[in-house]
Amino acid sequence: MNNQKPHTAYFCMEYGLNEKLRIYAGGLGILAGDILKAAKEYSYPVTGIGLLWRRGYSKQVINTEGRPESQHPVNEDIYQHAVDTGETIKVIIQNQEVKLKIWKVDKFANATLYLLDANLAENGELKTITDGLYDGFNEKRIAQEIVLGIGGVKAIRKLGLKIDIYHFNEGHAALAGTELIKEKMTAGSNFETAWEKVKENIVFTTHTPVKEGNESHSLDSLEKMSAFNGLSREQMEAIGDSPFSMTVAGLRLARISNGVAKLHGQTAREMWSSVKGKSPIISITNGVHRGTWVDERIKSNQNDKSAIYAAHQEMKKELVNYIAEKNGAQLNPEKLIIGFARRATAYKRPNLIFQKSDIIDSYLASGEIQLVFSGKAHPTDDNGKNIVADLVAKAKQFPNSVVFLADYNMEIARYMTRGVDIWLNNPRKPLEASGTSGMKAAMNGGLNLSILDGWWVEGCEHGINGWQFGDGYVGEGQDESDLYALYRVLFNEVVPTFYGNQDRWQDMMLESIKTTAERFSAHRMLSRYYDEMYNKS
Ligand SMILES: *Cc1c(COP(=O)(O)O)cnc(C)c1O
Repeated sequence: MNNQKPHTAYFCMEYGLNEKLRIYAGGLGILAGDILKAAKEYSYPVTGIGLLWRRGYSKQVINTEGRPESQHPVNEDIYQHAVDTGETIKVIIQNQEVKLKIWKVDKFANATLYLLDANLAENGELKTITDGLYDGFNEKRIAQEIVLGIGGVKAIRKLGLKIDIYHFNEGHAALAGTELIKEKMTAGSNFETAWEKVKENIVFTTHTPVKEGNESHSLDSLEKMSAFNGLSREQMEAIGDSPFSMTVAGLRLARISNGVAKLHGQTAREMWSSVKGKSPIISITNGVHRGTWVDERIKSNQNDKSAIYAAHQEMKKELVNYIAEKNGAQLNPEKLIIGFARRATAYKRPNLIFQKSDIIDSYLASGEIQLVFSGKAHPTDDNGKNIVADLVAKAKQFPNSVVFLADYNMEIARYMTRGVDIWLNNPRKPLEASGTSGMKAAMNGGLNLSILDGWWVEGCEHGINGWQFGDGYVGEGQDESDLYALYRVLFNEVVPTFYGNQDRWQDMMLESIKTTAERFSAHRMLSRYYDEMYNKS
């Protein structure tokens, strides 16, 4: 009995399993999808719990003025990718009963994922709760979190799943704690004992090193939405403070918590140091599912330099063709291609590299440096949208060496992380929790050129498997200091190596693959979750 692995219910607001099932927005969802795929592949008993977002996340197109526009079409075919379990459950939202259908998804080589869906006529206006991922703030978001957390636990009971561990991936699922506590109280425990008991079975992952990015709600709003779930105001405050922080609640409900890279764990420990009664926060670095993100041609030739290079050139041409088809731009596969794809938001600084046009522009004009960008801004982030508009304008200025691919998704990520020579990442330190797209590129032989933040702190061997830049300076003038550091490494090391020392470049590609393939895989991440979080010592 003892060496049977615990069965974990993994709660997450979004899942990126396949671009056909658009119920993800970005990194959090891709990570969750990769975990379910690794669990399936390596027979770890994990069951996913999420929501069936009928409209998914925003679709972002570039309008005629060169600005991103968020659209929210209904995903008509979303139900084709899920199987109706025939089961339903009910939750109370704003004093009304809301019926939720339970759908099952297991066709993407993933461990089973159950999705809750409020889209039933009998729910009246509340049927739109599960329409749009991250389309709700405040009360609507609370309603969505009731569905995920409280609905999730009820669905587990309804389906008769035997669950040993409840893993809350981000604070969104924290209300599941109220349901687990309530179950114990219904069985006769008092609140304190119930909380102590459920803690044994809850683990929590925090992702957001930006304080404002951690969601909180007023106790009044929670009460109005019926999120107390039978607990008292004092009990809710004891769990998540007032205002009620979803992250603080997660940290206090769990037996153990983690940050998603070594550095991020440390950042999270400092950030939450004043929270009383929280669980210890360890670091488990994210990883990516190799079957999804590493090309077969690379996997089967891991130590063969010329085969790796040939495969890389093929994938690079596939990217160039994909771009030609999508945007009409013609990149040169013999010249350096740098990729940058992440959410378009200020702290990630997607347009940093353009800031000194007297330095960078000549390289773009000659085509010696080619840049491919992708990334969506959050539909309400005007700053992020300005950044996208800026990138689109640059693509107009340098039509055959700068490209912006609209509506970033798994397909674009697959082409980019397989096809580029360099993966660029320049967040304002220390705001990148982990970053996983650089791992995808590294495992395909793309070389990272990145600030030492997130996973790269652990992964980088400068000049051997990629490059780092910047001295970690944080403060006034940080952007300019990082920009010059980027230019120094780019012009003194990256460009000369690419054009002048292909032999060394290809050695670095092999080294990049060798040093990341296992270490940053979802399999290794999941086995650490089992060893350090799920198994009780
Ligand atoms: C990998 C991936 C992400 C996450 O990338 P980060 O580097 O962690 O920001 C986001 N979106 C898509 C489509 C991805 O494939």
